[in-house]
Amino acid sequence: MTAPTKPRPIYLDCHATTPVDERVLAKMLPFFSEQFGNPGSEFHSYGWAAAAAVTRSRSTIATAIGAIPEEIVFTSGATEANNLAIKGVAEAYLERGRHLVTVATEHSAVLDPCRYLETVGFEVTYLPVKPDGLVDLDQLADALRPDTILVSAMAANNEIGVLQPIAAIGRLCRDRGILFHTDAAQAIGKVPLDVNDACIDLMSLTAHKVYGPKGVGALYVRRRDPRVQLAAQLHGGGQERSRRSGTLNPPLIVGFAEAIALALADLDAETARIRALRDRLWDHLAPEADALKIRRNGHPTECLAGNLHISIGGLEHRDHNALLRALHPKIALSSGSACASAHTTPSHVLTALGLPPAIAVASLRFGIGRFNQPDEIDRTAQIVLETIRALQGAA
Ligand SMILES: *Cc1c(COP(=O)(O)O)cnc(C)c1O
Repeated sequence: MTAPTKPRPIYLDCHATTPVDERVLAKMLPFFSEQFGNPGSEFHSYGWAAAAAVTRSRSTIATAIGAIPEEIVFTSGATEANNLAIKGVAEAYLERGRHLVTVATEHSAVLDPCRYLETVGFEVTYLPVKPDGLVDLDQLADALRPDTILVSAMAANNEIGVLQPIAAIGRLCRDRGILFHTDAAQAIGKVPLDVNDACIDLMSLTAHKVYGPKGVGALYVRRRDPRVQLAAQLHGGGQERSRRSGTLNPPLIVGFAEAIALALADLDAETARIRALRDRLWDHLAPEADALKIRRNGHPTECLAGNLHISIGGLEHRDHNALLRALHPKIALSSGSACASAHTTPSHVLTALGLPPAIAVASLRFGIGRFNQPDEIDRTAQIVLETIRALQGAA
């Protein structure tokens, strides 16, 4: 007799990562075994098969964002793409200026390279955001200087899901002759992205937030009007036109392209379905919001369809992870960035919205995705409400 298997917690942490879609996995598998060649091997069919797969994938990804294949540099993910964009531009343009502008609510993979640059002679302006999480365009315009070389502003926030007005930011930068980078790790495959419409010069992508594998991503680097100069951060075999050395990983790259293709093929229908689940969750919580001191964070409509972020008052007597600890056997979710959740300090995103630290630490980020079902949403709402009541009551 086998022991009954314990039901797994409901997965609502899609901003941290997503499972690989089976259709993506199926495309990847041959490239681990039969088609194992190095795409850089020029003199035999093993190499050619791998190179052909990389070429097809590169073209799929480029087309998906309105780019051309030569503008795609494969990386290990969005962290590396952000580092390459920010440090690579800083190094290439330091004769023109040493000032960069970014936003207080960026991912640490943007903020930390900026902080690093400050230690080597660059100056960085960290723009505040409005209480809804959006950048104020007038404030951005005021921050631009003759020596500003780069603006980095994310497309979609990984905690509160807010969609920045990247087309307006891109236009402003283009008019001033300043390069514009956007971290689109959360946006790719969730909202339409076109590098020309939005005047984007560099864009970071990753596969694992959109049902592709972990460990692969890309940096889009504009080649015309303007042609972006980039100093390589990894030196070696000269792959990716010497912008990122290292043997390309065909299984991951093939999976990345398939994940993007699937997401875009079904973008409107999937967005509508996921938004309906998100609204269903909020509809369960909203009637209790006053009684249980629940507030919703971030702009309510300029937001990813699968994101709901709440903070809960009346838990100041609890330590900051009490809510998540109580929930985790039944629901897998987090309060903010997976990369920062080991820290005990409140999220920099929530404090940038003006939330008091005591409220910010009692927050829940729901990340709803492709495989969530309505009954999971209903159970989640019930469990979350019960848990908040219990913790608030036991003062
Ligand atoms: C997940 C994430 C990253 C990091 O991407 P990796 O591919 O895991 O390195 C960067 N920026 C944002 C906004 C993210 O959500």
